[in-house]
Amino acid sequence: MNSDLKLKTYKCTIHPSEAIKRVDKNPSAEKIFYCIDCIMDAQGDLRSKLVLIDDLVQNLYAHQASSTGGRKIGTKVPDNLAAILNTEEEAVSKFEEYILKQRNLVSEKFNVIEQEILGSLQAIKSKILDSLEDQLNLFRSNYSTYKKELDKYYGEDIQSTKGENELTKETFFEELNSFNSTRDLENMFKTLLREANLDEMKDISTEGIVAKLTTFKEALEQNTKLQPKSIILIEDELKSSLALVQKALQGFGEGISLIQNSVYPITGAPLDSAILKPTDLEFLADKIQNGKPLSLKHKISIKSDGSNLDKIMQAALDSEQKTLSVIKGRKGT
Ligand SMILES: [Zn+2]
Repeated sequence: MNSDLKLKTYKCTIHPSEAIKRVDKNPSAEKIFYCIDCIMDAQGDLRSKLVLIDDLVQNLYAHQASSTGGRKIGTKVPDNLAAILNTEEEAVSKFEEYILKQRNLVSEKFNVIEQEILGSLQAIKSKILDSLEDQLNLFRSNYSTYKKELDKYYGEDIQSTKGENELTKETFFEELNSFNSTRDLENMFKTLLREANLDEMKDISTEGIVAKLTTFKEALEQNTKLQPKSIILIEDELKSSLALVQKALQGFGEGISLIQNSVYPITGAPLDSAILKPTDLEFLADKIQNGKPLSLKHKISIKSDGSNLDKIMQAALDSEQKTLSVIKGRKGT
């Protein structure tokens, strides 16, 4: 063996800056490559089972090198074993066509989902932009409300200032009807309501009026010191909001089986069950994958590498009367 030969550095698909360091030797595991970050995230005894990728490559080479050339038991493949190969071309091409259709349907579906998510994002964005504009409008209107209040109590006699700005029912409705959007009308109503509320403070003594105007002025001062900031610009807030979204999407990938009736890698190993036929397994796998536990009263899931399985099962099922146990094996059955 040429000892200079070495696997080049492959990067983690989840952590693109990290190199693959170790491998889970279980070929049925969805993920078998682990970078240093993935190793840190690995749960329980999985971490101790991961083997160095460079060592594994050497072992896999050794296995491949030793297993080429099996023991021949005949010169011709028997017809009953060979017959299925006649269907290969048709079966593969049908399957290919089917998979292509599935891929197209998935792409279409994702386009719809992407549009929906984009729509939601755009709605949030407009809401934030509108809210920021509201802040400016409110800031302006606070000044004008304060000025109106001052005008009410100070200055020339009200009669002499009456003129072109005089309020009539016509001008009042004209103003209300001049808005292009309901939102603008809503803001106007809020201003009018605030002014109406102010007038309800009925202390009309000079001291009462001065106290009201002073409180008003102080509130306006406080207002000028505020710097409204969108939550989307606050790093921590954004992170925790996005984390929720990411968690929901992650749940979509992890919580459910992404493919139903999936093809599994075949081996010559017999189905390890004296009770269930392969079709029974398919049936049960479908029910379980789709969260339809028949009429089972209890559904208990146990994850185990097989060691101590009997003890774990016994502990979990001790109080149960009749139990049906379904074991998900390495082949995904
Ligand atoms: Zn990684």
